Amino acid sequence: MKITVAESAGFCFGVRRAVDEVYHQIETGEKPVYTFGPVIHNEQVMQELEAKGVSVVDSLADVEQLNQGTLIIRAHGVSRRTEEKMRESGLTIIDTTCPFVKKIHAIVQEKSREGLSVIIAGNPDHPEVKGIRGWSDGPVYIVETPEEMEALELPEGASAVLVAQTTFNLLKFEYIVEIFSQKRYYNTVVNTVCNATTKRQAEARRIAAEVDAMLVIGGRHSSNTQKLCEICKAGCKNTYFIETLVDLETIPFQSFCHVGITAGASTPNQIIEEVQEKLCQKN
Ligand code: SF4
Repeated sequence: MKITVAESAGFCFGVRRAVDEVYHQIETGEKPVYTFGPVIHNEQVMQELEAKGVSVVDSLADVEQLNQGTLIIRAHGVSRRTEEKMRESGLTIIDTTCPFVKKIHAIVQEKSREGLSVIIAGNPDHPEVKGIRGWSDGPVYIVETPEEMEALELPEGASAVLVAQTTFNLLKFEYIVEIFSQKRYYNTVVNTVCNATTKRQAEARRIAAEVDAMLVIGGRHSSNTQKLCEICKAGCKNTYFIETLVDLETIPFQSFCHVGITAGASTPNQIIEEVQEKLCQKN
């Protein structure tokens, strides 16, 4: 069996930076150390961090109960109000919001202050999108599909800026831009799908078209991994989402000659190597 592993599989720059900072704070920061939401969608890494004394807090109400320690904002970022409340808490705040996400916060703040409505192409329930929405001083609309963009009607005379969640499916964003551009109001588009995502999705698409089966490794709750799956399924009907080695057991590898592997931005290299090793043993 031939195995092709995507070069872009695994930790992106932003996730690597955030995880490294958590380990740095474990060594040098004021204790206890908290992260606002899981710093990474990976069970094994989260368990290791927990064993080293890191706790996850999920809401501002939780933060208000704390009176000492270090609170880390993860790569997804938070809304302006959440950040302000955190800074008022008296905890030491370490902000690891990815610079690519920060750039979207700045665009949304600036354009909304100029009077533009903000349209975000993304998943409304994803923390990154909730954070981005919270930097607007005016109306915000979230669309997840071209159909939702089609159906969106802004008030007469409105102007709007369209941005994307950093991990949004680039091809889908391009469809949405096309529809947005045909609307009558004054509009501005900023493609904020990050380079790491663009590269990962393009490589996954290319490999999926060449193989008999495609494995996508990542956390169940990882939005960028789910999007990778969606992209791979379009090119390869035998696409499997796996989180751990156990998930490999149910896949009928005997019927495949060429298997491709990619992984989401929160997937440690170690897991990718373990999957690759296990596949080699099946040869
Ligand atoms: S996917 Fe892109 S924007 Fe998101 S953390 Fe990684 S590098 Fe940053």
